[in-house]
Amino acid sequence: MTQRLFFENAYLTEFEARPLRVQREGERTAVVLDATAFYPTSGGQPHDLGELGGARVLNVEERGAEIVHLLDRAPDSGPVLRGRVDPDRRRDHREQHSGQHLLSAAFVQLARAETSSFHLGAEECTIDLSRPALGPDDLDAAEDLANRIVRECRPVRPTIHSAAEAKALPLRKPPAVEGDVRVVTVEGFDVSACGGTHVARTGEVGQIRVLGAEKTKGLLRVSFVCGGRALLAARRKGRLLEALRGAAGTSEPELPAAFGRLRAEGERLRKAHQETSEALLAYEARELFAAAPGAAGGTKLVVKTLDGREMKELSWLADRIAREGRCVVLLGGRGERASLAFVRSEGIDLDLRKALEPAAREIEGKGGGRPNFVQAGGSRREGVEAALAAARAWVAAALGG
Ligand SMILES: [Zn+2]
Repeated sequence: MTQRLFFENAYLTEFEARPLRVQREGERTAVVLDATAFYPTSGGQPHDLGELGGARVLNVEERGAEIVHLLDRAPDSGPVLRGRVDPDRRRDHREQHSGQHLLSAAFVQLARAETSSFHLGAEECTIDLSRPALGPDDLDAAEDLANRIVRECRPVRPTIHSAAEAKALPLRKPPAVEGDVRVVTVEGFDVSACGGTHVARTGEVGQIRVLGAEKTKGLLRVSFVCGGRALLAARRKGRLLEALRGAAGTSEPELPAAFGRLRAEGERLRKAHQETSEALLAYEARELFAAAPGAAGGTKLVVKTLDGREMKELSWLADRIAREGRCVVLLGGRGERASLAFVRSEGIDLDLRKALEPAAREIEGKGGGRPNFVQAGGSRREGVEAALAAARAWVAAALGG
């Protein structure tokens, strides 16, 4: 059994303890001490980091009644080992975890929303609430109440109770452990069973900032940051707004309107560009139809290779030409890839799928379509001319026959 020094003093970061067991575990060395200030991952709070016996502490795990420290190498030998818990990480965890108690208690008191789980992440913390229907006003009210308790700088005290004693306490939720229960009390505000590391007075939390909420599996997941993280989050947002303000060339309150105008302008330009492109293609279609020679039975044959054109534009153009008059259109595009689009006017008895077969081979492509409209894309751009020649030969033979 390991004595948990962090239960009595969450500020203790330097300590000495006797090693009870030291053994290799794969790449790491596992050490069990008679007492430790290193907090193991549990209750939603991640483990501490630091140094033990001159080695780096990579992980701290709870295994039954023991706490196992996993080190990057064997610790110094000797009857006692010196431990040093990373004080910044511990301070951050005290702030986040204590802020969570205040926020969870505020949600219970204001909205009867119980916290079912807590996660202290590397960037953000989250709690899952039992009432997913809470709105922005409820979130604001809980944030306000929790921050009022922070500013009142109330004492936070851990105490140990027997199971029978704990039953008589107004715990926020029933304890998850059997036997003795560690209880953390925020004076006059919250009493909860918890084994984590907390601040001694609520004022140390500094600020609790709710970042957002989303529904998940019938619960409401509220994300938040406290203390130093709240300061960093506010600073990052401020810098982001400043950059946006500079880019938009406007004042901060005007930003939403400025972005609305930019979007509307972008949409207007996109439409105008599309209209111009279609007008140009229509013009090109008329030119190509007019310039094409006639073939058997008064059917024109329009065959053309177009550089820099992709499939979508090519198909649109071929379709447009076929509406100009009675014709068969065979277009090849050399854009990023090779593409083919064949169209015939209504009333011409030709199955263009048969013209596509030999043509697609020339561009090492695949395609398909209906008897009056086919398209194919391929990787061999230099095969486009030969593809059109093959298709033209097939069409000429079919029309001539
Ligand atoms: Zn706690």
